[in-house]
Formats: sequence, structure tokens, C-alpha cells
Amino acid sequence: MNAARAGCKKPYLAAATSTIIAVFALLPGNLAHGQIVEVSYALAPRAQVEVRLRQVTMNNVKRQAILRQLFEQAGCTGDALADQSFKKKRPANVICTLSGATDSTIVVGAHFDHSTEYGEGAVDDWSGASLLPSLFQSLQGRPRRHTFVFVGFGSEEKGLVGSRFFVGQLSEEKLSKTKAMVNLECLGMGPTKVWASHADKTLLGNLARVAKALNLSLAAVNVEKVGTDDSDSFAKRGIPTLSVHSITQETWHILHSTSDSLRVIKFDDYYSSYHLIAAYLAYIDTILP
Ligand SMILES: [Zn+2]
Repeated sequence: MNAARAGCKKPYLAAATSTIIAVFALLPGNLAHGQIVEVSYALAPRAQVEVRLRQVTMNNVKRQAILRQLFEQAGCTGDALADQSFKKKRPANVICTLSGATDSTIVVGAHFDHSTEYGEGAVDDWSGASLLPSLFQSLQGRPRRHTFVFVGFGSEEKGLVGSRFFVGQLSEEKLSKTKAMVNLECLGMGPTKVWASHADKTLLGNLARVAKALNLSLAAVNVEKVGTDDSDSFAKRGIPTLSVHSITQETWHILHSTSDSLRVIKFDDYYSSYHLIAAYLAYIDTILP
């Protein structure tokens, strides 16, 4: 396990609160000295994020329906919210689009399906999927440069089926306009981790900068031995990816076992991961092409 670090200037300001709009400023590494970017996002209250997490159920059809409801409650409605069917009798991908000023796109994904008859699949990956509506909520209400596409993928556990389908139906033009895919897998078993060896270096460096600016925990833990995730489907098509998780040597055995339940999720760590990811998405919106 190596701490993820990036050479970065001390931020001018690091301020964030848990319920109102938080703003901080960073010197972007790829711009000239002296320029700063302001990053703003509104965190959903802790209780709301926790309620969403607690709606976990073992049934994949219900998980898809609940995720859809959670997006609607968060304000993603009408044409912005769509199902994308990829196989009869399998729950469809759930797609919520937050339009930005341009059609350059950042995809934020997590799989809502649950692997086996064992456990609740609360960690893997309801922890990621149920966070998507809260992340949508964090970014809406302020102008964004990129269009954000939040996707709850189905059938990840059957071989990344939903994410492969999603990427497979993108036109060459849409592929070229997809600037990043940020994947959320198995959050909350402890402080935030990033799969560094698997990540695009620019996306990784920027995550470290935001964590440092906000004094939020982040370490690198590579999980090649644990398996693959939906970011693979995007990386194979040349899209820069980054996977955020909470898996360590001590906790990986929880996945796909009867131990995978709400009991192993530490809510302080989970909310801290939410804070970091919300701020990170707002930040990369300001600096990615
Ligand atoms: Zn998973």
C-alpha cells in the first residue's frame, strides 16, 4: 500500500461544510502560475446519503428500480433519466444526464447489481450505485462545463455486461468527447482508496490534489488480484479512467461473501468518500478539456 501523492501547490483556501455549498480554490497543475480555479459543489446532508445507502435490497430488479427512484428524488427527472436495456430479463442500465455547457462528457459509474446469493451486496456495489444520485445532487444547480453522465450499470458481476454495452453503443464522436470515466466500487469499508496502477495519471494526480486541499483521506491500493471493474470497459476504448474504492488486504474477503452487509460500512468513511468524489468531479470539470 502506497500513499497517493502528487506534486501540488498549497491551496489558497480549503473550506467545506457538510450541508451547504462548499467552495475551494486550487492552482491547476496544467495552467500557468497564479491562475486559480474555484470549485463549487453542494453536499447532500449525511442523513440523506445514509438513507439512500440503507435502501439496499438483495433483488437486482428492485435495486434497479430503487436507483431510478433515488435519481428522481435527487432531481434527475424527465428526459434526463433513462433506462438502457441490453438484455431481455436483465435489469437495464440507469442513466442520468446532467447537461453542461458543452458535450464534452465525464461519465460517473457504479454497478447496482449484486453478485451472488451471499450477502446483501451493500458494499459491492450498492455503496457506489446509491451514491450516484447524491453526486448528481452535488453538481446540479451550478453551471458545469462538461456534461456529466451518471450510470448505474447492470450485470457487472456477469462480466461487465452493462458497461460493455454502454461503451459499445457510443459513436466514435461520443467516444472522443468522453474525457473521463470515474468508477465507484465498494466504498465505505474504510477510508477512501484509489486503484492507482489502473488509473489515468492525470486523473489520479488531480484526485490527490483535491484530497490534499480538503484534508480528506486518500491512499493507493491496487486491486488487480481482486478482479476487474466497469472502468475496464472504458479503458479498452481509450477513455481515461479512475476507480475509487475502499478495499484493503484486510477487507477484500468481505466481497462476494455473507459478510457483505451494511454492518461493515463505516458511515464516516463513506461520507468522506462522498465528499472527496463530489469535490473531485467539480474540480475536474474545471480543468479537463
Ligand atoms: Zn463490484
